[in-house]
This record gives sequence, C-alpha cells and structure tokens, in this order.
Amino acid sequence: MNSETKRPLEDSNSDDDDDYSGDEHIEVVKRVRRTEKVALPKAYIDEINIKRLDFDKERICCVTLSRSNIYCCLSCGKYLQGRGRSTVMFKHSIEQKHHVFLNVTNLKVYLLPEGSEVETSADPLLRDILYAVYPTFTAASVKEFPKVCRDLDDRAYLNGFIGLNDLNSNGYMNVVILALSHIPPLRDHFLLSNKYSGTDSPVDTDLTASVALVVKKLWNCRLLRRNVSPQQLMNVVSSVSKTKFSSDAHEDPRLFLLWLLSKLSTNGDDRILQKTLMKQLQGQIEIKSTEIETITNEADQTVKFKRLESESTIKKTKFWLLSLDLPEMKVFKDGNDVNSVPQVRIEELLSKYTEQMEHHTKDSVKTYKVVKYPNFLILYYNRFNNGFTSLKDRNQTIVEFSNEMDFQGNRYRLLSNITHDCITKGKLSDTEDLLVSKWKINVLNTKDNDWYEIDDIEIRKVEEEFIFLKECYIQIWQRL
Ligand SMILES: [Zn+2]
Repeated sequence: MNSETKRPLEDSNSDDDDDYSGDEHIEVVKRVRRTEKVALPKAYIDEINIKRLDFDKERICCVTLSRSNIYCCLSCGKYLQGRGRSTVMFKHSIEQKHHVFLNVTNLKVYLLPEGSEVETSADPLLRDILYAVYPTFTAASVKEFPKVCRDLDDRAYLNGFIGLNDLNSNGYMNVVILALSHIPPLRDHFLLSNKYSGTDSPVDTDLTASVALVVKKLWNCRLLRRNVSPQQLMNVVSSVSKTKFSSDAHEDPRLFLLWLLSKLSTNGDDRILQKTLMKQLQGQIEIKSTEIETITNEADQTVKFKRLESESTIKKTKFWLLSLDLPEMKVFKDGNDVNSVPQVRIEELLSKYTEQMEHHTKDSVKTYKVVKYPNFLILYYNRFNNGFTSLKDRNQTIVEFSNEMDFQGNRYRLLSNITHDCITKGKLSDTEDLLVSKWKINVLNTKDNDWYEIDDIEIRKVEEEFIFLKECYIQIWQRL
C-alpha cells in the first residue's frame, strides 16, 4: 500500500486540517473513494466494545474540547475530534491501535488510518450502535408501548419507565421531562416526527431537538443500559435559559415546566408541535371581576360594601396549568406525626374554578370558571408560599384524590404525579438541619394500571394507595 492510499479522506464539510495536494489524479481517487463503502473487517468487529459506549454524554472532544467533527471511538468510547492525519483522533488510532470511529452527528462510521467509510446497514452490531445514538420508531410499534424490552445485559425493562440521572441538582428538570414524555400525543410526536429522526438535528443547540432525543431514548426498545443521562439536554437548557435553569442549582419544577412549554409552543420550526401542545394541554379560563364600593359613615367608618355589578368585567385567559391553593397549615406542636398533617379533598380545591367560589380582594370579587377543559389537565399544588429557601415552612397538607375524578362533568384519570420530599443533607448549625428538596414522579402504565415511582435512576412498582400519601406537587390528568 502506498502512502497516498493510507491517507484518510475528508468529508466535504470537514474542518480538520489535513490538506491534500491539488494533484488531479488524487482528486479523482478521492471522489471515487468517498462514495465507496467497505464492509467492517472481522478483526475490527472484535475490537468494538459496546459496553464502553455512552451516547448520552456531551459531544465534546476529550482532548481539544472542540464540539465540531466529533467521533466516538467504538473501542474505548472516547469522543475525539477527527479525522484527518493531524487530528487527535488519527493520533489516537495509531497510538491505541483503535480503528473504528463513529461520527456522532451524521452517523457515518470510518476506519482509521485507512480512512474508508463503512457500510453500516449490513452489520447488526453497528445497527444496534446507531440505534442507540438515534432510536427510531414506527407508528405501529408505538401503539404497543410500553412493552417489556431487554438491555445489553439481557435485563428486562419497561420502555418509558426509565430513570434520568441526577447529575447534581437537576432532579426538578428530570421529573418534568418524564411527565411530558408520558403524554401520549406529545410523546408520539417526538418519536415519530421526521423532523427529529434525521441525523442532522442540532441536538447540541436546539432545545426542541434535544428534548425529542431524550424522549426517544426514554422509549428506546434496545437501551445499552437502563437509564438515560440528560446531560446534553441540560447543557442546552442552561444555555437557552441563560442559566436560569441548570443542573447546578435547585429550581422550581413548576417554573421549569412553564418555561419549557412556552419555549416548545413558540418554536416556529415545528408547527405540528405547537398545535399539539395547544390542542392537548392548553385550557381556557374565564375570570369575572366585580368591583366593590365601600360605603362609609360620617365618621369615616366602613358600614357597607356594595357590589357594582354593572362594572363587572369578564376576561378569558389561556392556561397551561391550574394552580390550587392548599388550606393554611397550623404550626405543628407534635413533630412529624402523620396524623397531625391536615388533609383536603381534591374536589374542594378544584371548586375554586367552578364559579361557585368567590375570591375577595380589597376592592373586588372574582370568580373563575374553566371554559375549555384540556385533554391533559395539569394541576399544581401551591406548597411553597415562602419559596424554596425555607423548606420546613412548606405546606405539607395531604391531598386526597382517587385515580379518576369528575371535574364539572369531565372525567379525568391520573397519568403522572410529581411529588416533593424533603431530605436532610447535613447540618446548617448545631440545632438546624440542612434540608433539600427531592423530586420523584409516579407514572401510570395505562396498559395494566400499575403505578411506578421513578426516583433518579431507581424504578419501583408501587401500590396505588402509596401515591396518595405523598406531597403531590404537579399532576397530569388525562380526559377520558
Ligand atoms: Zn479508543
């Protein structure tokens, strides 16, 4: 083999720095070889170590820290910039004697130092690897979900019922992503839309594309391992939100949910997603506001309030979630005795939105009435009047609900339930513990009505009664 044929060849958009001479003959050879694909040699198949591969991690070269032209070494799993002679990937190939590299953006596989492209469709191992990077689905297969699948170690799992790693403090984002991934029309859009099946989705920068990819991985039927790392999505979220939401600091899942829905529903590149969100998740509420006139006597004392019905205004407004106020909690005297925690029925909280309940302010009376019931109703329980800085002052009222409920003639069933836990993470002082929020989610398998709790990467089947004892925070109900 002469030295020229040993040279790796470039993609037309490759930005690495291996220059070729202008020799016409070499140009012709290059053009021909670009279109020729080779079978993966047997010796190289044995070199591939699928267990060392991780396609959830950030697409960044581990040596140069560059984000362009990133390949995964299929022997050791390292992400390296390539693929010309002067690149770190080429050097890695020579020094480590690793020969098979996958471009994680366009899913092309190359052999180094030869430089030839591999025909991937003929090799089952390569097909599995490509599927792990970008899982694909058919409408027929999605109808069967969730189903029992097997990971690389032949361990059974239910697709969709998969944990997302808590990288630091991103539990609040994970539960929101999991909740959204269990709304069937939204899930199906992300799994089936051609927009996110392509290999050139800008998952490193585009929020919708990176959400779509995480949803695809959660519903993947051939996971390499039974959890998904949201690291890439977290990086995009952090960048798009200008670090308001990041994995470095706790935030409110409600705020993250509202932010995400607002971003996804205004993504002009995906009109179908916009329509799906608005049609399925968005409701409308009518707010009637009546002014109150205060009538005073000569001594300036209030003697009467008069409703100015003629001054009533009616305003309609759209909502993503309905906010429910919990009854005020009395301060406990007897510690955390569960019997002392107040309880309230969900119907009582929802009566806020049925026009029967009046809300008095200083100078007006308001009533609320839902005029458009969404197919997927999101309820939010307001537990943190004082914010997250003082967790021990949160409202711990237990909400009593059944797995189905009637809301003004609309039948809903509970699909998912984000819960709040408070855990001790050290000491603030000799007498005070450092408390942090821990977010978990209960999700329903609608095929057999079993409930699961997803706690970080742990998945547990749970009894229905167990769900109702938690501090529910956000719930998604499906209209039947
Ligand atoms: Zn390697």
